[in-house]
Amino acid sequence: MCYAIPGKVEKIEKNTVIVDYFGEKRKALNELAQVKVGDYIYAQGGFVVSKISPSEAESILEVWKETFFHLQEVDLKLSRLHLGDKNTDRGLLEILDKASQSKELNRDELLYLLELKDQAGLELLFKTANFLRQKYHKNSCCVHGIIEISNYCIQKCHYCGISYHNKELQRYRMTKDEILKSAQVAVQEYGFKSLVLQSGEDPGYSADELADIIKEIKEKFPSLIFVSFGEVGIGGLEKLYQAGARGLLMRFESSNPKIYRDLHPGQNLESRLMHLRQAYKMGYLIITGGLIGIPGQGKEDILNDIFLAKELHAEMFSFGPFIPHPHTPLAGVKPAQVEEVIKVLAVARIIDNTQAKILVTTALETLSSEAAKSALLAGANSLMLNVTPLAYRQFYSIYPNRAHQSEDIAVQIESTVSLLRSLGRAPTDLETI
Ligand code: SF4
Repeated sequence: MCYAIPGKVEKIEKNTVIVDYFGEKRKALNELAQVKVGDYIYAQGGFVVSKISPSEAESILEVWKETFFHLQEVDLKLSRLHLGDKNTDRGLLEILDKASQSKELNRDELLYLLELKDQAGLELLFKTANFLRQKYHKNSCCVHGIIEISNYCIQKCHYCGISYHNKELQRYRMTKDEILKSAQVAVQEYGFKSLVLQSGEDPGYSADELADIIKEIKEKFPSLIFVSFGEVGIGGLEKLYQAGARGLLMRFESSNPKIYRDLHPGQNLESRLMHLRQAYKMGYLIITGGLIGIPGQGKEDILNDIFLAKELHAEMFSFGPFIPHPHTPLAGVKPAQVEEVIKVLAVARIIDNTQAKILVTTALETLSSEAAKSALLAGANSLMLNVTPLAYRQFYSIYPNRAHQSEDIAVQIESTVSLLRSLGRAPTDLETI
């Protein structure tokens, strides 16, 4: 099972390689000393992850050859756009027509889209976002594996089920050996090329210990590693980068300072943004975004959140629904609606046509089994599968009844591959040149 297609290196220019995928040229940054023209490689998130032997690459490509072009056709068919329905609101058609031509929409137009309620209008918005996703990102869909290494956290975020407040929760902290074993299973047994290591803000691991784990994963199980350990400080980020981490998953949750303050006692938005800005300067790929449906949040706030994610150079937008957890101060608040979240993803795609990937969060999948498909057809092009050992997964309960909580990795992979194939998506995530 494989979550990236091998490509052949055609050209090397300093630290950039041009890679051929069945005649399509894509580029990636290369940090591996031994790569030369003619080699086959795997790449993820714009980075060369590993080399692969010619015989293995050729046999994988033989299997992919027909599928690759067939998937592109399916995707193209599903992403066609017709904006000619005379029964639809003229104002909406004009906005979507402008969006479909990649013209920048003004705030009023974007707010109009975020306020949309009627089904026909929403369908057209989703189709427009899907059209733009196909136009600029083709049928690429990246699939990351997430390992939740610890559910200890010193923070008290009001929406989070693993916050320090929750005294009912059984806590766990994986050992180095357990983390390495999980990475080995994900990379060697299941073919993941990109891993996210995540925990609460857990002082139980020092930055040096985390760096040591990352270094060993990089050496033994080559993969693109994202870290998501909360605010580890600029020195911590540097250590993790030096060890080989190349991505940071850190959401700011709300760009509104008052909402941020209300939800995060003792924390401050500026500190979080400073981490994100410094991480980008260091060379990290950034995954960031916010929570949809939190108390006090208006459409203006959501629009500001999307603009902030863009300003932070998000490689991937992560906007997910608020889902109440019974052991948090927000236990009584209603969860966000699926359609409201997908609307945000679609507007994010319209705001950022060309650069960012858009993630289907597990929280969105938790709200509805159909949500992943709907989001992928509304501008999203990225998924995360949970590769945390089953014995621990249930305790990473940031909200209740998480999707895939008790699903074996093999089962998640099978259903994801089948969903992606039905939509004509392929597991490559490099920009076409
Ligand atoms: S959201 Fe993150 S930092 Fe906040 S309590 Fe949960 S795990 Fe900790």
